[in-house]
Amino acid sequence: MTLMQEAKRGRVPGEIEAVAKREGIEPEKLAALVAAGRVVIPRNICRQGPRPTGIGEMLTVKVNVNVGTSQNLDNPQGEVEKALAAVAAGADAVMDLSTGGDLDALRRMILDAVSVPVGSVPIYNAAVKKDLTAQGMFNALEKHAKDGVDFVTVHVGVNKNTLERLALDPRVMGVVSRGGSLTMKYISETGEDNPYYSEYDYLLEIAKEYDLTLSLGDGLRPGCIEDASDRAKYMEFIMLGELVKRARAAGVQAMVEGPGHVPADEIETSVRAMKHLTDSAPLYLLGPLVTDIAPGYDHITAAMGGVIAGMAGADFLCATTPSEHLDLPTTDDVIEGTYITRIAAHAADLTRPGVREKARASDLQMARARAELDWNGQFDAAINPARAKQIRHRRGVETDTCTMCSELCAIRLAREAMNKGIGRQ
Ligand code: SF4
Repeated sequence: MTLMQEAKRGRVPGEIEAVAKREGIEPEKLAALVAAGRVVIPRNICRQGPRPTGIGEMLTVKVNVNVGTSQNLDNPQGEVEKALAAVAAGADAVMDLSTGGDLDALRRMILDAVSVPVGSVPIYNAAVKKDLTAQGMFNALEKHAKDGVDFVTVHVGVNKNTLERLALDPRVMGVVSRGGSLTMKYISETGEDNPYYSEYDYLLEIAKEYDLTLSLGDGLRPGCIEDASDRAKYMEFIMLGELVKRARAAGVQAMVEGPGHVPADEIETSVRAMKHLTDSAPLYLLGPLVTDIAPGYDHITAAMGGVIAGMAGADFLCATTPSEHLDLPTTDDVIEGTYITRIAAHAADLTRPGVREKARASDLQMARARAELDWNGQFDAAINPARAKQIRHRRGVETDTCTMCSELCAIRLAREAMNKGIGRQ
């Protein structure tokens, strides 16, 4: 029985208990959210031990980090190192997006190495093995499931119907999703529809067998500000809403992926529409980047969008690194992207129903330590204590204030004035 089927029967399996305890929510309430498909807890019956992680309503916003080889850069050990670095920096999940070298071996190395849920994109395997056929795509899906992957991206929304909308409303950048473009290649070369869409019931059978969570990919996500919020994107969401419903009916957990590049003033509408069209399925966003002109800083443009999206209801943010659009990320890029995305997720949590009180307690801890000029307390409360310590001590000047104001420390001067009775005179 899948986790969702158990929850539908009113049971509270261990994964739900564990997530409820960590998030501070009643286990029965969480089980009801899982049963309704509003929370997913990715798990695969073939994989033991990943930390149960809940994604969705009433839970903190989670962060995924992508790793993986490319056809130019194939260093499997380096990618495992990045995955471990991401988890050490607080990533809640890791996706292996490898397209270079021995994909099967690296996937298993990452699954063995990390303690968090692992996701993947099976169509890459089919493409790399030059078997971009319906059978090749399903073989890849089943292989990933057997290896123990906890969630898979399947670009089911890229099909003849949505592509017709795209053709009628052309974009500046067309399709920027790798999985989306591979699906288009399949459709254009065979004349057949996307097999993951046309044979969706079969896909659900495989997912059910392994209790695999589906991440319904946004193959038509806009790749630039000019293309945001167009008809193809919304058509894909209408389609994904239908497919979420079918997954839930089959007892398969499903979340939905979203864009991409979106101007700040369209993000809230976009997130609310996606939530509405998918009956509040957990929403996993790749960004959204709020401008196109900041290569080298796209971890920041994505974090800006991530905060707004998280405030509007997005549940899962995919980390963007400073290398986005430029190069395969280094380990340092991955660490930087993980922390920046965690900051965005936390900023959203400060406003998020069900979690804001707990999230605000961390900020209060920092504020109290700052008010006391308690440096160790500030490091303890910091999202990245090592970075805070390194900056604090880098000049070797040790004072009880910081070198910004030194003897003119506003906090200390104001406290001394208050202690002398100002305001009570
Ligand atoms: S020295 Fe200035 S910046 Fe540093 S803690 Fe005091 S008020 Fe804040």
